[in-house]
Formats: sequence, C-alpha cells, structure tokens
Amino acid sequence: MITTPTQLFIGGAWVDAGDGATMAVDDPATGEILARVADAGPKDARLEEDAAVEAQQDWARTAPRARSEILRRAHEIILDRTDELARLMTSEMGKPLAEARGEVAYAAEFFRWFSEEAVRIEGGYGTLPDGRNRMVLTRRPVGPCLLITPWNFPLAMGTRKIGPAIAAGCTMVLKPAPQTPLSSLALAAILKEAGLPDGVLNVVTTSRAGEVCEPLLRGGRIRKLSFTGSTAVGRLLLAQCADTVLRTSMELGGNAPFIVFDDADLDAALDGAMVAKMRNMGEACTAANRFFVHRSVAEEFARRLADRMGALVVGPGTRDGVDVGPLIDAAGRAKVEELVSDALERGARLLVGGRTPEGPGCFYPPTVLTDVDPGSRLMETEIFGPVAAILTFDEEDEVVSRANDTPWGLVGYLFTEGLDRALRISERLQVGMVGLNTGLVSNPAAPFGGVKQSGLGREGGRVGIEEFLEYQYLAVPVR
Ligand code: NAP
Repeated sequence: MITTPTQLFIGGAWVDAGDGATMAVDDPATGEILARVADAGPKDARLEEDAAVEAQQDWARTAPRARSEILRRAHEIILDRTDELARLMTSEMGKPLAEARGEVAYAAEFFRWFSEEAVRIEGGYGTLPDGRNRMVLTRRPVGPCLLITPWNFPLAMGTRKIGPAIAAGCTMVLKPAPQTPLSSLALAAILKEAGLPDGVLNVVTTSRAGEVCEPLLRGGRIRKLSFTGSTAVGRLLLAQCADTVLRTSMELGGNAPFIVFDDADLDAALDGAMVAKMRNMGEACTAANRFFVHRSVAEEFARRLADRMGALVVGPGTRDGVDVGPLIDAAGRAKVEELVSDALERGARLLVGGRTPEGPGCFYPPTVLTDVDPGSRLMETEIFGPVAAILTFDEEDEVVSRANDTPWGLVGYLFTEGLDRALRISERLQVGMVGLNTGLVSNPAAPFGGVKQSGLGREGGRVGIEEFLEYQYLAVPVR
C-alpha cells in the first residue's frame, strides 16, 4: 500500500467521506488494489464547496507576490520529490517511469510559469473617445471554481488548472478521475506544505461524478468550471452550466491528423510519429490518430514505423527498460481491441502487434495498420492506445480536406521541408495547435487547446490565467 493521503481534502484538513465509504485504486499493470481512497457523496461535495466559498474573499485579497511564492515553493517541492511522485503516478496510471518523471517536470513547470504570471496581472487606464470620461480597468478572480480532470496525465492536468487559479486568486474544488486520485491527493499535500491557505484548494474523490458535481454546477456559488476530458462528458457539463451561466474552459477530445509529405525528412517524421503516437501509450488527447502519408513514401514510412514499434518493450511501467506500460483498464483495452478488429475486417493490413497478450494487466502491443479503409471506426474515434493507422494521399487539397473532415480540432502534425507548404497547410488546418516537423506540442509557456468540438479556451501560456480572471471597468467622468 502506498503512503499518500487517501482522505478528502476539505478546508485544509484530511477527512473521511461522511458515510465512511471508500473506493479502490487499482494498479493497471497487475490488477491489484494499490490503495483505498474516500468515496465522497453529494453531502461531502457540499462541504468542499462551503470551504472554497468561505476562503474566496480573503484569498482574492492576498498579495499577488504571496500567491506567486506559494506556487514557486510548490514547484520546488514537486521537483525535489520527482522520484516519489513518478512512482506513485506509474503505479496508479501505468505509464513507464521515465515518462512519469517527464510528466512530473511538465506538471511542476505550470506552477513556475504561473508563479511568474501571478505578479503580471495588468489593468488599464484610458480616456474615452468623448475626451471627458476616463476608464479604469481592473482584473478580478472569477471566484470559486470546480476543476475536473482525467486520468491520463494525473499530475499535469491538475497543475495546468490549479496554477492559474492560484495565480488569479480563485479558490477551488478539484475532482480527479477515480482511476488516478492519488497523484492529486499528493499534490494537495504539497500545496499545503508550500503554504497554501486552508480552503483555497479542496479535493473530492468520488465514484459518483455526476451526483457530486451537478449540484455544484447548478448551485450558483461555484462561478467557473474548468474541465478536461471527453467531448461527450464536456457537452453534458456545458448544458449543466447553462442555467447558472458559468464561465467554462473545456479541454476535450482530439482526432489528430499526422501528415507526411513526399518532401519530409523521413527520419524526423518517424521520430515525430513515435512521440505523437506512443507518448503515454497513445492515451493522450494529442495522440496522432490518423496518419496520412504521401503515396510515394508511404510504404517506407509504414515499414520503418512497424520496425520501431515492434522493438518497443511492453511491461509494467515500474520495470527498467520498459517503453510501453499497460492501458488504464480493461474497458480501455477492450475499446482498442474492437477498433483494431473493425479496421482488419474492413481490409487493413497488420504490420506488427494486434494481439492481446495473456496474463494479468491491461497490456496491448504497439500496432501498425496500413491500407486502412477511411470508413473504419478508428478514423472517427480516439483510439487511446498504441495503434498507428496509416492511409495514403496524393494531393495537398485532398489531404487538407480529409484532415479537417472531423468534428474535432485539437492538434495536427505536419512533416515537410518546404516552408511555403508548411505555412500554407498550417493555416488551412482546423486545429488549435500544429506540430511542424515535431511530434510534441505541449509546453506550459504555450496556449494549449482546440477548436470545434475539442474545446473552449486555452490552458498555459500568457492566456492561461485569463480563463480565471474577469474584467471590471470603472467609469470616471473628469470635469
Ligand atoms: P471522461 O470520461 O470525460 O472523464 C473526465 C473526468 O470527468 C473524470 O474525472 C470523470 O470522472 C469526470 N466525469 C465524467 N462524467 C461526469 C459527470 N457527469 N459530471 C462530472 N464529472 C464527470 O474522460 P477520461 O476517459 O477520463 O479521459 C480521456 C478523455 O480526456 C479523452 O477524450 C481525451 O482526449 C481527453 N483529454 C483532453 C485533454 C485536453 O487537454 N484537450 C487532455 C487530456 C485528456 P468519472 O471517471 O468518475 O466519470
């Protein structure tokens, strides 16, 4: 069993769920129970909300420098505990330790970035066109927020929201995914140690997300929802936010095209493909979901990708030398198996992988499919697994229109050596982010987010803090 907090975090105290209920957290590599954490109900959530609402006024008045220093200290503590946090994350989520260490650094960087932003919240002063009236613009925190996070990046999805909320002066209730609550609870303990006042962050772990969150969204005291997760759940939550006209930030699903032109540096395209496809075992909203490769290089690209995918070592993420950990749970793996079967039934060719191994744990092998039929289900669904599906194209216009032919628009990857073509295609892709000759776009200093049904708003970058701030305009006539 892991020694990390397992209770609810309310008003700076660790407490059991009111009815004493707990839920199991499993290790996806073994299926064994790692820990039991509090399983909150609506009454517990109400107490969390009370704590956030009560803390809001004082917290909004705290000096920006004080808020900044808390984030800076937390950034340092997280980095000091990289190993411990990475092991915790790997045990509840499955990703290999090297990737978990990478996520710890990425997660910590949001705190450093927003510690720098906390002291740069600017207002304005100006003369209105009539020459008489003056305008004073100030920024205010939006108020208590509900933050809902997924399981795939258990630490970074939390810090990407908590960092700007702290910097802006908002209080919070955080609801992590039930598969990976331990990383969020450890984070809460670190923030307390870094000096975060009681009630500013509250953490509710629950197996009853809908029952627990809906009253908060409809109650009128929470003023903002920041959600990361699937588009289906995002849509439902947006409807719940409509009645109380909540501010929302929605980081939803993706269906990323990965486009390789005939003039691409194929070595770079393969390196990019390995990152864009295999980071997090393919369980990322940014994962390359549809590979479009120019017909003249498609065969070589597919063969070399299959060689590299086939050489990856699959096993428990805690074991040395492992490149690919288990998928999050049995349901996640079953979805990948079904998508691969469907593609094969429609005529796809299997170059490597595709067979579920025997034994415990939710493992699935790195898989490459070519000659994929465009009507296959994995073309219109996030695969969320280590499966590369390759299609070919001939013309620029054709590939742009196929890449855009999806309700999602989070990220696209583009490999070409031609600057002209790179700019032309990037401008035509309906996505919030483009990786040009790279398979990695995530960076705390850049605005992360999508267009179309991939979401609303941006996280990180200069604009990340804006999501947690309101304007107030003061009109002053000068005689
Ligand atoms: P999910 O099923 O949408 O769940 C996300 C979170 O929402 C979980 O904490 C979940 O808790 C909660 N939730 C579900 N139903 C709810 C409800 N009715 N009310 C309140 N909360 C509710 O997504 P997931 O499977 O955890 O994560 C994978 C998805 O996240 C993918 O679609 C991926 O693309 C997306 N994602 C997007 C980004 C981005 O930045 N755009 C980043 C990472 C992941 P329960 O599990 O208990 O229901």
